[in-house]
Order: sequence, then C-alpha cells, then structure tokens
Amino acid sequence: MADLAARLAAIDERIAAAAQHAGRSADAITRIVVTKFHPASLVRDLHALGVRDVGENRQQELSAKTQELTELAEMRWHFIGQAQTKKAAAIRRAATAVHSIDRERIADALDRVAVDDDVLDVLLQVNLTDDPGRGGVAPDGLEHLAEHVLECETLALRGIMAVAPLNADPAESFARLHGLAERLRTVAPEARWISAGMTGDFAEAIAAGATHLRIGSAITGPRPAQG
Ligand SMILES: *Cc1c(COP(=O)(O)O)cnc(C)c1O
Repeated sequence: MADLAARLAAIDERIAAAAQHAGRSADAITRIVVTKFHPASLVRDLHALGVRDVGENRQQELSAKTQELTELAEMRWHFIGQAQTKKAAAIRRAATAVHSIDRERIADALDRVAVDDDVLDVLLQVNLTDDPGRGGVAPDGLEHLAEHVLECETLALRGIMAVAPLNADPAESFARLHGLAERLRTVAPEARWISAGMTGDFAEAIAAGATHLRIGSAITGPRPAQG
C-alpha cells in the first residue's frame, strides 16, 4: 500500500509538471487508473488513496469488480476495451463511461439496454493506425458515427479516445488526435473530452490537450500474467 501510494503520488507530480509545461491546469485533467488484470483489492486500496476513476478493458472483469466493490462510494468505472454487442447490457450496468464506441451497432446496443432515464457517457474511439483490425473507427468515418450517436437518446457523447500507435511518435499521433477532436466538435460541440495517454506517453498526451489519461502499470505495478 505504501508503494502504491508512492507510485500514485509520483505520477500525479509528473501530470502536474506536464500540465504546467503545457500551460494547462491539472484540474482539467482526469487521471484514470487502469486496473485490468489486478484484483478487486487493488481497487479498494486505490479508493482509500482517493482514486475515484478506474478503467477496465474486459467486460467480465469490470462486472465482477463492480459487483464485489459496491461499497466504494463515488467510484466512476471507465470501460476502455473493445465492446461486444451481446455484452452491452452488462457493460451498461457496470460502467459510468464507455470510451470505445467505434461502430453504430455498439452504440445502438448500449442505447437499447438503458434502464429508466439514466444517461451513459460515451466517447468515440478512433483508430490511428493503418491496420483496420485495430479498435476504433477510421478517421474519415468519425463525423458519420458522431451523428449517429447523437441520435441515441440515452447516450451522452462526451468526446474522443485513441491509443497511440506503437511505432510512431506519440506527439505526432496526439497532435493528429487533437485535430480529430476539433472535427468532432463541429458536429458535437459538447464532446470536449480527449481520452489519451498511457504509462509511456501521458506527457505527450497532456501537451496535445488530453483531458482523460488512462494510466495502468506506472501506478499499479506490472500486471499479473493474463489468465
Ligand atoms: C491497458 C490500457 C491502458 C493502460 O496501459 P499502461 O501502459 O499500463 O498505462 C490504457 N488504455 C487502454 C485502452 C488499455 O487497454
């Protein structure tokens, strides 16, 4: 727990420094701690340290942890993984926000399973690689998908999300993402979130305007072997 607190504090210092360097307020940046593959007890420890935003990339793990941790107040669970339409109801039950909307069908599936008048925050994931097999809508399909999501009454379109391609300069990738975020706002003026930046590239993401960082291993330590 002492190690965890130290790593969290060190990252928050680096976030503050990167924000200052970029002439931005760190208050405008949400640090999401990605807890995938780690046990629910780690989320409990993070909560005790003041963390309220956590990220998961697999529906089953998200559902299991939220069910185990119902006693944690004010938690916001961010779903950041590839979403399957048949898992939409489970994702919607557990997540506060879904960062990975990349096709109309997943938006429709999440919209359809709304309960009462709850509204789900969603972001459009864009694919910055040339590999169509990667998650995310191709950049030239962004506006079309945004228009579709705006028609989904129980979804609130909050912004854009991307993972920087491995073999490219993250600063360039995030500059491109910033341009796509501006394009998105011409269609959806309220969609101001930019979810970008991980352990290896969050400073570059902050410089390019990221509002939501998704940081895992630098805070949690190495992930346990994937089962
Ligand atoms: C795992 C993951 C992260 C966090 O990665 P780290 O390198 O451990 O910080 C961020 N975003 C997504 C989509 C992930 O799957």
